[in-house]
Amino acid sequence: MAEPLLEVAGLYKTYGSVPALRDVSFTLAEGGSLGIVGESGSGKTTTARIVLGLERADTGRVTVRGRDRSPRRRGRAERLRGAREVQIVFQDPLLSLDPRISPGAVLRETLRLHFPGTDHTRRIAQLLDQVGLGEREATGLPRQLSGGQRQRVAIARALAVEPSILILDEAVAALDVCVQAQILNLLADLREQTGTAYLFITHDLGVVSQAADHLIVMRHGQIVERGRTEQVLTEPRHPYTRLLLDSVPRPGWRPESIARARRDLPGPAG
Ligand code: ADP
Ligand code: MG
Repeated sequence: MAEPLLEVAGLYKTYGSVPALRDVSFTLAEGGSLGIVGESGSGKTTTARIVLGLERADTGRVTVRGRDRSPRRRGRAERLRGAREVQIVFQDPLLSLDPRISPGAVLRETLRLHFPGTDHTRRIAQLLDQVGLGEREATGLPRQLSGGQRQRVAIARALAVEPSILILDEAVAALDVCVQAQILNLLADLREQTGTAYLFITHDLGVVSQAADHLIVMRHGQIVERGRTEQVLTEPRHPYTRLLLDSVPRPGWRPESIARARRDLPGPAG
């Protein structure tokens, strides 16, 4: 078998007395898309922050193409190289976009940092085109853009550094369903065009069914189920996965039976 692009092995992380991750291991193939689903507090963002190198695990390893992704990077070149391995897009790009800087200028700044000494005009035009932003949006300010447009800027900025891995942490959660569908289509196209692999974090099973080939289900910091997305969603084996699936509203859906099923689930140790 080919070496995985990303390998996460035996991550444990505790905040004070709160165990946030317990023995989290998974791999992501070159160009693949792995979904991480689970309710709020299940450890998804903690996993993402450790993969990024923003946070250090208590124990465990993260490797990209067999190389340790140590959070302690010496020097600027190391940090930039690390940033080219993994990029992230969060739920709310307003928090990560400087309100005074236009999308075009953000891209130029990012490209200058990573690929100094070249003219970036054509690359900027290409990136804007790839994410479906026009000249007008490119020169405006973030607050003049819609939520979907801002998310396109955040995606373009992440792709500008040509990352091997893009983490999408609830990246479409704040968008209405129609815009959500547009962004999901865009992400699928971009994966095909660029070969970037995705770590697709979401609490939304509808989103993950469209966006991920493989899936892990997290609960209380542990992986309770994993497999091909289709398989897990059509033949879930763990009661928690079945509960998540039953929690998606559809005709004939009864919230009371969900509450009962939740009470019957084993606790964190089970
Ligand atoms: P998710 O992204 O699935 O909602 P998180 O990874 O954010 O879950 O959180 C997992 C657990 O770790 C939660 O119990 C959360 O309260 C706790 N946690 C996360 N970050 C911190 C932190 N910086 N300090 C203390 N507790 C944290
Ligand atoms: Mg989170």
